[in-house]
Amino acid sequence: MPADVRIFLGPCYYSTGLQPGRIRDRLCRSSHVQKPLMRMSRIEVPDESSMLRVGRSVAQELEFGDLVFLQGELGAGKTTIARGILSGFGWQDAVTSPTYTLVDFYDIGGKSFYHMDLYRLQSADELEMAGVRDMISPQSICLIEWPERGEGLLPEPDMEIRIRYRGVGREVEIAHRPRDLRGGPGW
Ligand code: ADP
Ligand code: MG
Repeated sequence: MPADVRIFLGPCYYSTGLQPGRIRDRLCRSSHVQKPLMRMSRIEVPDESSMLRVGRSVAQELEFGDLVFLQGELGAGKTTIARGILSGFGWQDAVTSPTYTLVDFYDIGGKSFYHMDLYRLQSADELEMAGVRDMISPQSICLIEWPERGEGLLPEPDMEIRIRYRGVGREVEIAHRPRDLRGGPGW
């Protein structure tokens, strides 16, 4: 890990590659989600086990009612980070990719988690029929891979995680809307 800047995210430190003073709580306008200010972090994540740790750290930032977009190319690590997030909430069993099921549901200690993959989404109707409006609720946390396929149908996310290939590892950019800047469900 280069000795430039490290960001503390839960149980481990990551190099950010950014200049000191610009990393933590850096507020900037996200072009993807126009309205609110987002808090940005960028992390180098060298391997799968680090990705799982990042997911577990992300879990500590989430609250029920949150909608999380997971973005990145095929094989980027969206399902891996979702696995880490669910593990952070105490899920110990397998987390498979919901590519064919569209949505998988997890009950963790009576709390609801939905993990969706919209890659194969054919139409808006399909998303409606799956009952997505009921899934995104104050009682649940929703993790959505390929949210761009549901554009115009989904409300704005509370957190956007964008994963990019960086050699054999990945760069993970997390945009998190601070609670005081949040509005209603946005349907
Ligand atoms: P996606 O859901 O984006 O298609 P997956 O989570 O299924 O991607 O991951 C695809 C592959 O990438 C898996 O083999 C996984 O082990 C690997 N992987 C995940 N995170 C990283 C990482 N940070 N560095 C290197 N490989 C990773
Ligand atoms: Mg996936």
